[in-house]
Amino acid sequence: MKPHVLILGAGFGGLELSSALSEKLGDTVDTTLIDQNDGFTFGFSKLEVMFGRATPDAVRLPYKAMVKPGVRFVRTRITAIDPAAKRVTTDHGSFDADYLVIALGADYDVAATPGLADAGNEYYSVAGADRIRMVLPMFKGGKAIVGVCGAPFKCPPAPSEGALLLHDYLVQRGIRDRSEITLVMPFSSPVPPSPDTSKALVAAFAERNITFVPTRKVRELSGRRVAVLDDGSELPYDLFLGIPKHVAPQVVEGAGLTENGWISVNPRTLETKHPGVYAIGDVANPGTPKAGVFAEGMARSVATTLIAALSGAGEQELYPGTGTCYVEFGAGRIGKVNVDFFSGPKPTGTYQEASAQLRAEKEHFASSRRARWFGLR
Ligand SMILES: Cc1cc2nc3c(=O)[nH]c(=O)nc-3n(C[C@H](O)[C@H](O)[C@H](O)COP(=O)(O)OP(=O)(O)OC[C@H]3O[C@@H](n4cnc5c(N)ncnc54)[C@H](O)[C@@H]3O)c2cc1C
Repeated sequence: MKPHVLILGAGFGGLELSSALSEKLGDTVDTTLIDQNDGFTFGFSKLEVMFGRATPDAVRLPYKAMVKPGVRFVRTRITAIDPAAKRVTTDHGSFDADYLVIALGADYDVAATPGLADAGNEYYSVAGADRIRMVLPMFKGGKAIVGVCGAPFKCPPAPSEGALLLHDYLVQRGIRDRSEITLVMPFSSPVPPSPDTSKALVAAFAERNITFVPTRKVRELSGRRVAVLDDGSELPYDLFLGIPKHVAPQVVEGAGLTENGWISVNPRTLETKHPGVYAIGDVANPGTPKAGVFAEGMARSVATTLIAALSGAGEQELYPGTGTCYVEFGAGRIGKVNVDFFSGPKPTGTYQEASAQLRAEKEHFASSRRARWFGLR
């Protein structure tokens, strides 16, 4: 019997891990990759969908396109995880593993913000971004809020990107002068580990007359079309684009793996308190932000651990806690931020000024993953 690696979730983390295992171990190991969806969508594609530049179908990468030696994809919903026994129950039976890797991402608790489901919109899910695609053309101008409803949240620059791209959209529609844009965020600056990136974003908000409300989150949307912030202050709105509160998927909560809401792991090996059980990506809490690049970095580290254990080849590489993010500034320009969470006493970041040239780099980031994970050119 070949050893069995079971990967839960085929997002950024699960796709990178299964690709790395297949590349190095081929079919000497059985890897099962489970996801409830039929395809993967990059987080940043949701911005494309929201502003009507792409349909959800155009940006979805179907799992059926994946062909990887040693890897079997199973589409089903995971209903229970027993980490001590390394046994997982799904709608299509149960699976036992020698190594179990949980990469189930973060879910959204829209109901945690009263009024958000009825009176607002969210752009963090594909369905939510698709709804906004229909709502935006009906906006005739007025007060628009991009508001974060809880922390931590995925991709810390994404609320800033939402506000800057909304500015472009309203300019294009000829209604920017009839509109106000306010960005509400629970951080003191847009990208705290990188003061230079934050400075550039705050300057971009000022140039575009976007009001930045730091250190606040949206607590509630009242029936009067007013956003109530966590200090009780009120902001009236005509259009609300929200970032909902994030939570670990319920099946993970049910497995008793979470501490302060997320799976507690050794930050450098990503192993949970159960030997042979790892957690990577947004569902884990190693002390780095919730973003695809970090999920991918965690997957690479766990891949080295499993490859060394299963084949004796190579050495375990610890998770470095570093990542590069591309930030949409609008008008076709993209900035780049490199962040490092583990090297020094506190996180640091460097900023490369926004330019049209960096768009090609971001496009390469996406196309190289499409090719590596799905064999798509
Ligand atoms: C608007 C926006 C912009 C973003 N921009 C960027 C960016 O520019 N760069 C960047 O690095 N990151 C970006 N992100 C963040 C990035 O998308 C996530 O951090 C990343 O996808 C996390 O990877 P993951 O593998 O942890 O989880 P995910 O990619 O979310 O994958 C988790 C998978 O688990 C599956 N799953 C969950 N529960 C179950 C269950 N019970 N049964 C079966 N399957 C289940 C889900 O279907 C999903 O496919 C952005 C996010 C958003 C919303």
